[in-house]
Amino acid sequence: MREDTGPVAILGAGALGLTLAYRLAQRGISCTVFEQGNEPGGLAAGFRISDSYLEKFYHHLFGTDRAAIALIQELGLGDRLTWQAPISAVLHEGKIWELDSPASVLRFGALPLFDRLRMGAAIAYLKLQHHHQPFETTTAKAWLSRWMGNRAYEVVWEPLLRAKFGSYADEILMSWMWARFSCRTTKLGYLRGGFQHFYDRLVERIEQFGGSLRFGEAVNRITSSSSQGFEVYTAVRSAHFARVVSTAPLARTMHIVEGLPEEFVERYSWNKAFGAHCVILELAHSLMPAYWLCINDPGFPFLAVVEHTRLMPRSDYAGKHLLYLGNYLPHDHPLFNRSEQDIVAEFSAALKSINPRFESSWILGVHTFQAPYAQPIVTPGYAAHIPPHETPIPRLYLANMFQVYPQDRGQNYSIALANSLARRLLATSGNEG
Ligand SMILES: Cc1cc2nc3c(=O)[nH]c(=O)nc-3n(C[C@H](O)[C@H](O)[C@H](O)COP(=O)(O)OP(=O)(O)OC[C@H]3O[C@@H](n4cnc5c(N)ncnc54)[C@H](O)[C@@H]3O)c2cc1C
Repeated sequence: MREDTGPVAILGAGALGLTLAYRLAQRGISCTVFEQGNEPGGLAAGFRISDSYLEKFYHHLFGTDRAAIALIQELGLGDRLTWQAPISAVLHEGKIWELDSPASVLRFGALPLFDRLRMGAAIAYLKLQHHHQPFETTTAKAWLSRWMGNRAYEVVWEPLLRAKFGSYADEILMSWMWARFSCRTTKLGYLRGGFQHFYDRLVERIEQFGGSLRFGEAVNRITSSSSQGFEVYTAVRSAHFARVVSTAPLARTMHIVEGLPEEFVERYSWNKAFGAHCVILELAHSLMPAYWLCINDPGFPFLAVVEHTRLMPRSDYAGKHLLYLGNYLPHDHPLFNRSEQDIVAEFSAALKSINPRFESSWILGVHTFQAPYAQPIVTPGYAAHIPPHETPIPRLYLANMFQVYPQDRGQNYSIALANSLARRLLATSGNEG
């Protein structure tokens, strides 16, 4: 087996693993994708509602998601990609305030006019900055309260940071916040019928090019020897590979791979990450006029409400209104173990504070999903802990959402990472084409 051209094992059939497998298979490199779940798509995978798929966790694209848009088009799915500018809003003192454009910032009556002007000017400044480095040495809390004012920070940004990062809120880097302003667009993209079509198409193409996929097979051990490459073990098989790429969460990879030096594991085991929990309600009526609602009032049992059918027509989902109620939480939070019935009872009471006409009888169906590694926590020192693709074990590579920085992780960034790693692997195979 020639080491740089022999078969590649890829752990994970999310955006990253599938794009990488597609790029390698396209160039004649033999690859096998191992996925512990039963379907492709990872965090962006969907399930059926009527004739469409719906993501288990809310998903859309931004106009700046160039790698994702290009791949969707390359795979012949461009005609499914639609762009809308739905309303994004915050709930403040029981009122829904649209907050998604310069005009809406000026209308945001929860702040005095001077603070609104100041906030608008600071957002405009951030949008004009092209580099994140100047924002790397300060926290979002410090920068935003200094330049937007304490009141704007407390009313708009602190609740957002607290909801997403809990007790880490005050430590989140401004570089992460800068990327949200710099890279996000008001127009949002969605793949009609669900992003699952994109992942299914990647699988089809990988197979057409001779690659293979093993679903329902978690890799639980990887050993290596310099002369024989790698042995990859799942519960049902073990197989030899010349190269291995893991797109699994870092902590998981470090646990599975035998022989990684301790200092490498210690340096790059960034254990700060939250899990995601999402309840999806199929409703008979619409809850709110907005697509996206950040809950900035205290006391709610969820941090965001996303009415998917304000982005896509409900005719795609047999006429149902679809609502996500999302949370990011530490892995050991009790919500992850509560019964669905219990959660829905508590969440329904909170929905009444958003729309007093809401009744439990509106609920036609409930789906609950959770993922243990969903949101890296970007506090000081994060950049120094981002691992390189190469590891001390030759031909074992890491590629995962913890390497996405300063942008918030997203399908686009996993696809871009896969594209660049594929170029590197192809170059070492003498297959740059
Ligand atoms: C609540 C929420 C909302 C989001 N919203 C958006 C959005 O609006 N837009 C957007 O673009 N992105 C969004 N994202 C982020 C997006 O889903 C991810 O950035 C992207 O899907 C990551 O892809 P990935 O392949 O890097 O990782 P993953 O999707 O996590 O894929 C890794 C895969 O590895 C598998 N795996 C792990 N361990 C093993 C093992 N030992 N053996 C075999 N397989 C293994 C996992 O099952 C998984 O399928 C959101 C995420 C969440 C949680």
